[in-house]
Amino acid sequence: MVTSTQCPNCGGMLVFDVDSQNLICTHCSSIINIENDKKKLEKKLLNESSSISLSETEYTAYLCNTCGREHVTNTDTELLHCPSCGDANLTKTNKIDYIPDGIETFKINKQSALNKLKAWLSRQKFAPNNLKKQAKNDTLMGVYIPTYVYDFNTTSHYSGVGIKSYRRRNGNVSYTRQYFNKTKFDKFVDYMDSATPSISSSKLRGLGHFSTSNLLAYRPEYLYGLFGEAVKVNLQDSEKNVRRDVSNDISRNIQNSLGFDRIENFNCNTRFSDMKYAYVYLPIYKGTYKYNSKTYNYYVNGENGRVTGSAPKSKWKMFFTFLGIAAVIGGIIYLIARFG
Ligand SMILES: [Zn+2]
Ligand SMILES: [Zn+2]
Repeated sequence: MVTSTQCPNCGGMLVFDVDSQNLICTHCSSIINIENDKKKLEKKLLNESSSISLSETEYTAYLCNTCGREHVTNTDTELLHCPSCGDANLTKTNKIDYIPDGIETFKINKQSALNKLKAWLSRQKFAPNNLKKQAKNDTLMGVYIPTYVYDFNTTSHYSGVGIKSYRRRNGNVSYTRQYFNKTKFDKFVDYMDSATPSISSSKLRGLGHFSTSNLLAYRPEYLYGLFGEAVKVNLQDSEKNVRRDVSNDISRNIQNSLGFDRIENFNCNTRFSDMKYAYVYLPIYKGTYKYNSKTYNYYVNGENGRVTGSAPKSKWKMFFTFLGIAAVIGGIIYLIARFG
Protein backbone atom coordinates (compact mmCIF):
# COMPACT_ATOMS: atom_id res chain seq x y z
CA MET A 1 0.00 0.00 0.00
CA VAL A 2 1.88 3.06 -1.19
CA THR A 3 0.08 6.05 0.19
CA SER A 4 1.72 9.00 1.83
CA THR A 5 1.78 8.92 5.60
CA GLN A 6 3.39 12.36 5.69
CA CYS A 7 1.62 15.66 6.39
CA PRO A 8 1.57 17.81 3.19
CA ASN A 9 1.98 20.93 5.31
CA CYS A 10 4.95 20.05 7.53
CA GLY A 11 6.08 16.48 6.75
CA GLY A 12 4.93 15.22 10.17
CA MET A 13 3.29 11.85 10.68
CA LEU A 14 -0.42 11.44 9.88
CA VAL A 15 -2.63 9.28 12.08
CA PHE A 16 -6.34 8.48 12.06
CA ASP A 17 -8.33 10.95 14.19
CA VAL A 18 -11.47 9.59 15.90
CA ASP A 19 -13.11 13.00 16.41
CA SER A 20 -12.89 14.18 12.78
CA GLN A 21 -12.92 10.64 11.22
CA ASN A 22 -10.06 11.90 9.03
CA LEU A 23 -6.27 12.08 9.34
CA ILE A 24 -4.55 14.41 11.78
CA CYS A 25 -0.90 15.49 11.75
CA THR A 26 0.82 14.56 15.02
CA HIS A 27 3.12 17.59 14.55
CA CYS A 28 1.01 20.56 13.30
CA SER A 29 -2.53 19.17 13.92
CA SER A 30 -3.63 19.75 10.30
CA ILE A 31 -6.69 17.69 9.38
CA ILE A 32 -6.33 15.86 6.04
CA ASN A 33 -9.46 14.37 4.45
CA ILE A 34 -9.55 10.65 3.72
CA GLU A 35 -10.81 10.30 0.17
CA ASN A 36 -12.99 7.25 -0.21
CA ASP A 37 -14.73 7.06 -3.57
CA LYS A 38 -16.40 3.70 -2.85
CA LYS A 39 -17.77 4.81 0.53
CA LYS A 40 -20.08 1.92 1.41
CA LEU A 41 -19.02 -1.70 1.66
CA GLU A 42 -20.77 -4.16 -0.64
CA LYS A 43 -20.75 -7.77 0.54
CA LYS A 44 -19.80 -10.41 -2.02
CA LEU A 45 -21.90 -13.40 -2.91
CA LEU A 46 -20.42 -16.59 -1.53
CA ASN A 47 -20.86 -19.02 -4.35
CA GLU A 48 -19.49 -22.53 -3.91
CA SER A 49 -18.50 -22.79 -7.57
CA SER A 50 -16.47 -19.57 -7.71
CA SER A 51 -13.17 -19.43 -5.93
CA ILE A 52 -13.11 -17.30 -2.81
CA SER A 53 -10.26 -14.85 -2.88
CA LEU A 54 -9.17 -12.06 -0.60
CA SER A 55 -6.61 -9.45 -1.72
CA GLU A 56 -3.25 -9.40 -0.01
CA THR A 57 -0.66 -6.77 0.79
CA GLU A 58 2.55 -6.41 2.79
CA TYR A 59 2.31 -5.10 6.34
CA THR A 60 4.76 -4.39 9.12
CA ALA A 61 4.01 -7.08 11.67
CA TYR A 62 4.80 -7.36 15.37
CA LEU A 63 4.95 -10.88 16.72
CA CYS A 64 4.54 -11.19 20.48
CA ASN A 65 7.03 -13.76 21.80
CA THR A 66 5.03 -14.18 25.00
CA CYS A 67 1.53 -14.96 23.74
CA GLY A 68 2.16 -15.58 20.03
CA ARG A 69 -0.31 -12.92 18.78
CA GLU A 70 0.57 -10.93 15.71
CA HIS A 71 -0.39 -7.32 14.96
CA VAL A 72 -0.09 -5.53 11.62
CA THR A 73 0.12 -1.87 10.56
CA ASN A 74 0.83 0.10 7.40
CA THR A 75 2.65 3.07 8.94
CA ASP A 76 5.84 3.62 10.92
CA THR A 77 3.95 3.64 14.21
CA GLU A 78 5.85 1.48 16.69
CA LEU A 79 4.00 -1.10 18.74
CA LEU A 80 5.51 -0.84 22.22
CA HIS A 81 3.60 -3.51 24.08
CA CYS A 82 1.33 -6.37 23.06
CA PRO A 83 -2.38 -5.40 23.26
CA SER A 84 -3.26 -9.02 24.09
CA CYS A 85 -0.94 -9.77 27.03
CA GLY A 86 0.72 -6.43 27.82
CA ASP A 87 4.30 -7.70 27.41
CA ALA A 88 6.98 -5.74 25.52
CA ASN A 89 8.60 -8.89 24.11
CA LEU A 90 7.92 -8.12 20.42
CA THR A 91 9.70 -9.00 17.17
CA LYS A 92 9.21 -6.74 14.13
CA THR A 93 8.89 -8.47 10.72
CA ASN A 94 7.16 -8.08 7.38
CA LYS A 95 4.06 -10.09 6.66
CA ILE A 96 1.67 -10.67 3.78
CA ASP A 97 -1.88 -10.43 5.03
CA TYR A 98 -5.37 -9.85 3.65
CA ILE A 99 -6.63 -6.34 2.90
CA PRO A 100 -10.02 -5.85 4.55
CA ASP A 101 -12.97 -5.22 2.22
CA GLY A 102 -14.55 -2.92 4.77
CA ILE A 103 -14.06 -1.23 8.10
CA GLU A 104 -15.99 0.11 11.05
CA THR A 105 -13.81 3.00 12.26
CA PHE A 106 -13.37 3.89 15.94
CA LYS A 107 -16.26 6.17 16.96
CA ILE A 108 -15.32 6.77 20.60
CA ASN A 109 -11.88 7.98 21.62
CA LYS A 110 -9.58 6.30 24.12
CA GLN A 111 -10.58 8.57 27.02
CA SER A 112 -14.29 7.71 26.64
CA ALA A 113 -13.38 4.02 26.36
CA LEU A 114 -11.34 4.32 29.58
CA ASN A 115 -14.29 5.95 31.37
CA LYS A 116 -16.58 3.11 30.26
CA LEU A 117 -14.04 0.56 31.51
CA LYS A 118 -13.74 2.30 34.90
CA ALA A 119 -17.53 2.33 35.29
CA TRP A 120 -17.62 -1.40 34.45
CA LEU A 121 -14.82 -2.22 36.91
CA SER A 122 -16.55 -0.38 39.73
CA ARG A 123 -19.56 -2.69 39.20
CA GLN A 124 -17.36 -5.82 39.65
CA LYS A 125 -17.94 -6.68 43.31
CA PHE A 126 -14.85 -8.64 44.24
CA ALA A 127 -12.35 -6.91 41.96
CA PRO A 128 -9.16 -5.98 43.82
CA ASN A 129 -8.78 -2.26 44.55
CA ASN A 130 -5.56 -1.84 42.57
CA LEU A 131 -7.43 -3.07 39.47
CA LYS A 132 -9.58 0.05 39.48
CA LYS A 133 -6.44 2.13 40.04
CA GLN A 134 -4.73 0.36 37.15
CA ALA A 135 -7.59 1.41 34.85
CA LYS A 136 -6.65 5.02 35.55
CA ASN A 137 -3.32 4.41 33.84
CA ASP A 138 -3.25 4.20 30.12
CA THR A 139 -3.54 0.42 29.65
CA LEU A 140 -6.13 0.41 26.89
CA MET A 141 -5.17 0.13 23.25
CA GLY A 142 -7.26 0.44 20.08
CA VAL A 143 -6.94 -2.63 17.84
CA TYR A 144 -8.86 -3.67 14.76
CA ILE A 145 -10.25 -7.21 14.96
CA PRO A 146 -10.28 -9.12 11.66
CA THR A 147 -13.83 -10.41 11.24
CA TYR A 148 -15.90 -12.12 8.59
CA VAL A 149 -19.40 -10.68 8.34
CA TYR A 150 -22.18 -12.56 6.61
CA ASP A 151 -25.79 -12.26 5.67
CA PHE A 152 -27.98 -15.06 4.36
CA ASN A 153 -31.39 -16.69 4.39
CA THR A 154 -32.04 -20.05 5.98
CA THR A 155 -34.73 -22.65 5.45
CA SER A 156 -35.00 -25.30 8.15
CA HIS A 157 -36.97 -28.48 7.82
CA TYR A 158 -37.65 -30.18 11.13
CA SER A 159 -39.56 -33.14 12.48
CA GLY A 160 -39.91 -35.20 15.64
CA VAL A 161 -42.25 -36.44 18.32
CA GLY A 162 -43.21 -34.06 21.12
CA ILE A 163 -44.16 -35.44 24.52
CA LYS A 164 -46.18 -33.58 27.09
CA SER A 165 -47.35 -34.72 30.52
CA TYR A 166 -50.66 -33.87 32.13
CA ARG A 167 -52.38 -34.85 35.37
CA ARG A 168 -55.61 -36.82 35.12
CA ARG A 169 -58.61 -36.19 37.32
CA ASN A 170 -57.75 -39.24 39.46
CA GLY A 171 -54.28 -37.75 40.12
CA ASN A 172 -52.28 -40.04 37.80
CA VAL A 173 -49.83 -38.53 35.28
CA SER A 174 -50.43 -39.29 31.60
CA TYR A 175 -48.57 -38.37 28.43
CA THR A 176 -49.54 -37.09 24.98
CA ARG A 177 -47.38 -37.82 21.95
CA GLN A 178 -47.55 -35.57 18.92
CA TYR A 179 -45.72 -36.01 15.63
CA PHE A 180 -44.62 -32.79 13.88
CA ASN A 181 -43.06 -32.08 10.50
CA LYS A 182 -42.61 -28.43 9.55
CA THR A 183 -40.54 -25.86 7.65
CA LYS A 184 -39.23 -22.58 9.05
CA PHE A 185 -37.85 -19.74 6.95
CA ASP A 186 -35.59 -17.04 8.40
CA LYS A 187 -33.69 -14.04 7.19
CA PHE A 188 -30.52 -13.35 9.11
CA VAL A 189 -28.59 -10.13 8.91
CA ASP A 190 -25.27 -9.21 10.55
CA TYR A 191 -23.85 -12.58 11.54
CA MET A 192 -20.18 -12.24 12.39
CA ASP A 193 -17.28 -14.58 13.00
CA SER A 194 -13.92 -13.58 14.45
CA ALA A 195 -10.87 -14.33 12.25
CA THR A 196 -8.49 -14.40 15.22
CA PRO A 197 -8.39 -16.74 18.23
CA SER A 198 -7.46 -13.76 20.47
CA ILE A 199 -11.15 -12.91 20.75
CA SER A 200 -13.84 -15.56 20.30
CA SER A 201 -16.88 -14.96 18.11
CA SER A 202 -19.18 -15.22 21.13
CA LYS A 203 -17.15 -12.57 23.00
CA LEU A 204 -17.22 -10.38 19.92
CA ARG A 205 -21.00 -10.75 19.73
CA GLY A 206 -21.12 -10.10 23.51
CA LEU A 207 -19.72 -6.65 22.82
CA GLY A 208 -23.07 -5.73 21.37
CA HIS A 209 -24.04 -4.18 18.15
CA PHE A 210 -21.58 -3.22 15.44
CA SER A 211 -23.11 -1.48 12.42
CA THR A 212 -22.01 -4.31 10.16
CA SER A 213 -24.76 -3.59 7.62
CA ASN A 214 -23.41 -0.08 7.17
CA LEU A 215 -19.63 -0.39 6.92
CA LEU A 216 -17.22 1.80 4.95
CA ALA A 217 -15.23 0.42 2.06
CA TYR A 218 -11.65 0.00 3.31
CA ARG A 219 -8.94 2.59 2.70
CA PRO A 220 -5.42 2.07 4.13
CA GLU A 221 -5.57 5.55 5.73
CA TYR A 222 -8.05 4.24 8.31
CA LEU A 223 -5.21 2.14 9.77
CA TYR A 224 -2.70 5.01 10.10
CA GLY A 225 -1.36 5.08 13.64
CA LEU A 226 -3.40 1.99 14.53
CA PHE A 227 -2.97 -1.77 14.50
CA GLY A 228 -4.99 -4.65 13.17
CA GLU A 229 -4.65 -8.21 14.37
CA ALA A 230 -3.33 -10.64 11.80
CA VAL A 231 -5.83 -13.07 10.28
CA LYS A 232 -5.55 -16.61 11.70
CA VAL A 233 -8.79 -18.20 10.48
CA ASN A 234 -9.36 -18.51 6.76
CA LEU A 235 -12.67 -17.76 5.10
CA GLN A 236 -13.45 -21.38 4.18
CA ASP A 237 -13.06 -22.54 7.80
CA SER A 238 -15.06 -19.58 9.06
CA GLU A 239 -17.90 -20.34 6.65
CA LYS A 240 -18.00 -23.95 7.90
CA ASN A 241 -18.07 -22.75 11.51
CA VAL A 242 -20.85 -20.29 10.78
CA ARG A 243 -23.00 -22.91 9.05
CA ARG A 244 -22.49 -25.30 11.98
CA ASP A 245 -23.12 -22.66 14.70
CA VAL A 246 -26.17 -21.17 13.01
CA SER A 247 -27.65 -24.65 12.34
CA ASN A 248 -27.15 -25.58 16.02
CA ASP A 249 -28.71 -22.28 17.19
CA ILE A 250 -31.74 -22.76 14.95
CA SER A 251 -32.18 -26.38 16.08
CA ARG A 252 -32.02 -25.34 19.75
CA ASN A 253 -34.39 -22.37 19.27
CA ILE A 254 -36.96 -24.49 17.45
CA GLN A 255 -36.92 -27.18 20.18
CA ASN A 256 -37.30 -24.52 22.89
CA SER A 257 -40.16 -22.80 21.09
CA LEU A 258 -42.30 -25.94 20.62
CA GLY A 259 -43.41 -26.09 24.26
CA PHE A 260 -43.07 -29.85 24.80
CA ASP A 261 -41.67 -31.41 27.96
CA ARG A 262 -39.46 -33.67 25.91
CA ILE A 263 -38.78 -34.31 22.22
CA GLU A 264 -37.89 -37.68 20.68
CA ASN A 265 -36.28 -38.33 17.27
CA PHE A 266 -35.75 -34.63 16.60
CA ASN A 267 -34.31 -33.97 13.19
CA CYS A 268 -33.47 -30.52 11.83
CA ASN A 269 -31.94 -29.80 8.45
CA THR A 270 -30.97 -26.20 7.67
CA ARG A 271 -30.16 -24.91 4.19
CA PHE A 272 -28.43 -21.60 3.49
CA SER A 273 -29.13 -19.40 0.51
CA ASP A 274 -28.02 -16.00 -0.85
CA MET A 275 -25.00 -16.15 1.44
CA LYS A 276 -22.94 -12.97 1.23
CA TYR A 277 -19.71 -12.20 3.04
CA ALA A 278 -17.06 -9.56 3.55
CA TYR A 279 -13.78 -9.48 5.41
CA VAL A 280 -13.77 -6.45 7.70
CA TYR A 281 -12.02 -4.71 10.58
CA LEU A 282 -14.05 -4.02 13.74
CA PRO A 283 -12.78 -1.51 16.34
CA ILE A 284 -12.02 -2.74 19.87
CA TYR A 285 -10.10 -1.23 22.76
CA LYS A 286 -8.18 -3.95 24.55
CA GLY A 287 -6.84 -3.81 28.06
CA THR A 288 -4.92 -6.36 30.09
CA TYR A 289 -4.34 -6.82 33.77
CA LYS A 290 -2.07 -9.25 35.60
CA TYR A 291 -3.26 -10.60 38.94
CA ASN A 292 -1.65 -13.54 40.74
CA SER A 293 0.44 -14.13 37.57
CA LYS A 294 -2.71 -14.67 35.48
CA THR A 295 -3.54 -12.32 32.59
CA TYR A 296 -7.09 -10.97 32.33
CA ASN A 297 -8.41 -9.27 29.19
CA TYR A 298 -10.97 -6.49 28.84
CA TYR A 299 -12.61 -5.37 25.66
CA VAL A 300 -14.44 -2.11 24.97
CA ASN A 301 -16.54 -1.81 21.81
CA GLY A 302 -14.91 1.05 19.85
CA GLU A 303 -18.26 1.98 18.34
CA ASN A 304 -20.62 2.14 21.35
CA GLY A 305 -18.45 1.70 24.48
CA ARG A 306 -19.92 -1.60 25.67
CA VAL A 307 -17.51 -3.53 27.94
CA THR A 308 -16.90 -7.24 28.39
CA GLY A 309 -14.17 -9.17 30.14
CA SER A 310 -13.37 -11.20 33.21
CA ALA A 311 -12.22 -9.42 36.34
CA PRO A 312 -10.02 -11.21 38.88
CA LYS A 313 -11.62 -11.75 42.28
CA SER A 314 -9.75 -10.69 45.36
CA LYS A 315 -9.69 -13.60 47.87
CA TRP A 316 -9.48 -11.16 50.77
CA LYS A 317 -12.52 -9.18 49.60
CA MET A 318 -14.52 -12.41 49.22
CA PHE A 319 -13.32 -13.60 52.65
CA PHE A 320 -14.34 -10.38 54.41
CA THR A 321 -17.70 -10.28 52.62
CA PHE A 322 -18.30 -13.87 53.74
CA LEU A 323 -17.21 -12.94 57.29
CA GLY A 324 -19.65 -10.00 57.23
CA ILE A 325 -22.57 -12.20 56.14
CA ALA A 326 -21.63 -14.88 58.71
CA ALA A 327 -21.54 -12.22 61.46
CA VAL A 328 -25.02 -10.97 60.53
CA ILE A 329 -26.46 -14.51 60.44
CA GLY A 330 -24.70 -15.31 63.74
CA GLY A 331 -26.20 -12.15 65.24
CA ILE A 332 -29.72 -13.08 64.12
CA ILE A 333 -29.37 -16.63 65.49
CA TYR A 334 -28.13 -15.21 68.80
CA LEU A 335 -31.08 -12.76 69.01
CA ILE A 336 -33.63 -15.50 68.18
CA ALA A 337 -32.06 -17.83 70.78
CA ARG A 338 -32.02 -15.09 73.39
CA PHE A 339 -35.35 -13.31 72.80
CA GLY A 340 -37.29 -15.56 70.40
ZN1 LIG B 1 1.71 18.73 9.80
ZN1 LIG C 1 1.34 -10.87 23.77
